[in-house]
Parts: sequence; structure tokens; C-alpha cells
Amino acid sequence: MPSKSNQWCQLLRQFLNRVNDIMAGNGKTIFNLILSGKIPSHKIYEDESVYAFLDINPLSRGHVLVIPKEESRTMDCLSEDSAAELGRVLPKICRAIMKITGANDYNIVQNNGENAGQTVPHLHFHIIPKYPESNHSFIWEPKPIDHSDAMELSRAILEELE
Ligand code: AMP
Repeated sequence: MPSKSNQWCQLLRQFLNRVNDIMAGNGKTIFNLILSGKIPSHKIYEDESVYAFLDINPLSRGHVLVIPKEESRTMDCLSEDSAAELGRVLPKICRAIMKITGANDYNIVQNNGENAGQTVPHLHFHIIPKYPESNHSFIWEPKPIDHSDAMELSRAILEELE
């Protein structure tokens, strides 16, 4: 039987998914409501193009979401200017989180698309502190590369990017 806090998390996730569905109908997401100040958030950083706040359902203490103000669902849709602004502030946000939480290690996670675990369709980076006692993990089982496929794949992507 799931614990009370697990049940609460599940309910909250269902509620957020429902809000997201409704918002998506208007081409908006719950993060638009946060950006426009219509719903509250625990803000930790803001400038002209970037907003960062505590995740409402943190994996660990100090779990932060960093979002561009530009409305972009996934990384491949983001403008170069907005990407540059995000990249510019990410390191200093990481440094501040590490300093204030005392964590030495952290993961940056960024899901693109529902099948990749994205539940809010507004691009965001998760910064997730990892404490010695944290039991979450993003370690996957590595498998050796297929070199003949890799040659074809790398050549095709290289060409696409030229
Ligand atoms: P993802 O599953 O990568 O799309 O991550 C979406 C994240 O947004 C989840 O970790 C949620 O807990 C978080 N989230 C959703 N709504 C809010 C909100 N109103 N305030 C803060 N975090 C939120």
C-alpha cells in the first residue's frame, strides 16, 4: 500500500497534469502562469530572459527549475539568443544552489517530449542537488557502441549541422 506522502505526490502530479492539459488547450503551460505572476512560485533568480524557482515536488532539497521566458516546448525549438542567455546564467545558479544547500554534487536533467518524461511542455532544466544520503539516481546501464552504425550516424549528423 502506497504511503500517505506517495499518495499525496500522485494526486499532486495528476492535478498538475490536468492543469497542463487545460493550459495546453490555450497553447499555454503552468509555467506561463508562474511567469505572469498568476500563480506563486519560490523564485530564486530572474532576469530579462530567464526565470528560476524551486520545484514544487523536489527530488532533493534545493531542486530548482530554470526556464527561458521564451515560450519553447523543447530544446530544438529554442532560439539561439534565449539559449545563450540560459547557458550564461546556469553556472552561477548552480554555484549559488551548491553554496546555499551545502551539496557538493548535482545533476542537471532536461526532458524533451512526453516519452522522455517531460510533463510540462515549456522547456526547463532541473538542477538537482545530490547529498551523500540522497537515494535518487540517474545512472544507466551502459552498452558498447556499434561502430559501423556510429560512423554512419556521426557522418549524417555532421552533414546536417554543416
Ligand atoms: P518534467 O517532468 O521534466 O516536465 O518536470 C516538470 C517539473 O515541474 C516537475 O518536477 C514538477 O514537480 C514541476 N512543477 C510543475 N508545476 C509546478 C509549479 N507550479 N511550481 C513548481 N514546480 C512545478
